[in-house]
Formats: sequence, C-alpha cells, structure tokens
Amino acid sequence: MYAELLGDARLYDLLQRIDEDLARQVRAAGCLCGGPLHSARYRRKPRGGPAELGASYEHRLSFCCAAQGCRKRTTPPSVRFLGRKVYLGAVVVLVSALRQGPTPTRVSVLHELFGVGERTLRRWRQWWQQTFAEGAFWRAARGRILPVVAARELPRGLVERFTGAASDQVFHVLRFLAPITTTSCGLLGNGL
Ligand SMILES: [Zn+2]
Repeated sequence: MYAELLGDARLYDLLQRIDEDLARQVRAAGCLCGGPLHSARYRRKPRGGPAELGASYEHRLSFCCAAQGCRKRTTPPSVRFLGRKVYLGAVVVLVSALRQGPTPTRVSVLHELFGVGERTLRRWRQWWQQTFAEGAFWRAARGRILPVVAARELPRGLVERFTGAASDQVFHVLRFLAPITTTSCGLLGNGL
C-alpha cells in the first residue's frame, strides 16, 4: 500500500501545493528584521519519486531578505524535502517503514522500486532510531503521539499512529516532521 502510494503522482502534487502554501505564509510574514523576502530557491535533484515528477521538484523553496545589510536566508518548512537528504521525504519515511512491521518488504524489492540500496536503508534506520529519536524535536513532540512510539519502532510506528488512508497518514507524518526540515524559520517551531 505504501509502495503504491509512492508511485502515485497525486501524492507529489498535493505535497507540492502544501510546500507552496507554507512558503506563502513564510513570505507574508517577512524577515525577522522587517525586510521583504525575495525568492532564492535551492536547486535540488530529488531521488526516489516517480519518473514524471514535475519541474517544481527541482527546487526547494527558499527566500533571502532584500534589506541592505541583512540578506538573511529564510527557508520554509517542507513536506517534500527532509532536510538535506537526497531522497524525497515521503520516500525516507515510507521506504524505511516498509522494512519494518510483521512482513518487511525485501531489500531487493525496495531497490528495484525506488533505487534505495541496503547501505542507504541502514543509514536511514540509524538516522530515525538514533539521530531523530534523540533529537530535540522528537523529545519535545513525542508526547503528542499516543500510544507512545519507541525509538526502535521509528518511523513505522509514527506513520501508524495517524489514522485514515495511507495517503492521509503520509501527509500527516510529513506535516508533523516539517519543523525539522529547516533551521532558519521559526514559523512552525524550530526543528533541531
Ligand atoms: Zn532581514
């Protein structure tokens, strides 16, 4: 079910619209100095999504303050890009989750479907269960998720705590995680 979802272009369209909405809110709020924000997108070449991902996925939305002497960068939270990870956020969450649970998807199948190899899967597991689990965001936010999700259940346990169809679950998880995708924007609480 999660594997199918990752191949569905509608998911990525929805996530694109959410990112644009988050960016609009950040831009409207302006720079901390009061200056106006101008577009200063980052070039990205995300992996793991369907082949027909639109050109919009070649950029991470970001802004620079236009005020002389400030020029501070503000990067809005994202539901598409999980920080600096090369793979799309949805892929890092769901492919990791597919390796967990009572019937984990085989590594060879995940490699064939998403181009994710064994080493990457191991790195992601380590990231979820150590870096993320011990980070400030999760320590502060995990109390909002019930029943409690143990570090070794991450990220599948987190996905499963959200109700609804698989697409709703991934949307809610990515929205929940959005604060950790930026360190230069306090709109949704600081990430790490
Ligand atoms: Zn400024």
